[in-house]
Amino acid sequence: MTELNYKRLCIMGPQGSGKTTQATMLAHEMGLCEIDAGQLLRDRAMQNDDVGVKLQNDMVEGSLVDDSVIASLVKERIEREDCKLGFVMDGYPRSHSQMEAFDPKLDLIVYIEIPDQVVIERMLKRGRVDDTPDGIQKRLSIFHSQTKEILEYYAKEGKLIKVDGSHGIEEVAAEIRKALNEHQS
Ligand code: AMP
Repeated sequence: MTELNYKRLCIMGPQGSGKTTQATMLAHEMGLCEIDAGQLLRDRAMQNDDVGVKLQNDMVEGSLVDDSVIASLVKERIEREDCKLGFVMDGYPRSHSQMEAFDPKLDLIVYIEIPDQVVIERMLKRGRVDDTPDGIQKRLSIFHSQTKEILEYYAKEGKLIKVDGSHGIEEVAAEIRKALNEHQS
């Protein structure tokens, strides 16, 4: 892939869209740090203090966690030395209120579009602890109601590119690279 001018990228999409897989590949290829909001939260939830226990409950339910918690975890991560050259973010911000709590100043957002039915089938196969039918439904409805606002906001700013997420990993990866190159030129 040609050298990109964008250094603060984000991959967005519903759960099961493959965003984490794509973010990891892209970060590796571009030599940027990867910031996975869900993983930061799962790590924080391992501490069994009040915040950790509340996180465990919210995540098992499929609810979004408190803005202040995720915003400060992401901010802290971005400020670390290994993110100085840039990053590929996965899963933040998911709402306007998170943008207000901490704006990661993204250059470009890749939105992986995928029908709900494909997501549901993929996630039931994945079998993570929060991948229950209720949890999946809840996260999809949060995605459609809240996260889409954020996508509209970035689209108006001219910072959103869309790719079709219903194909295999390699095809989606190729489509993302093509879209990034085209957007830059
Ligand atoms: P993910 O790994 O992206 O599927 O996220 C797993 C879970 O972490 C979500 O269902 C939410 O409970 C929580 N989560 C991840 N990112 C955020 C965020 N930006 N804001 C609030 N909750 C989040």
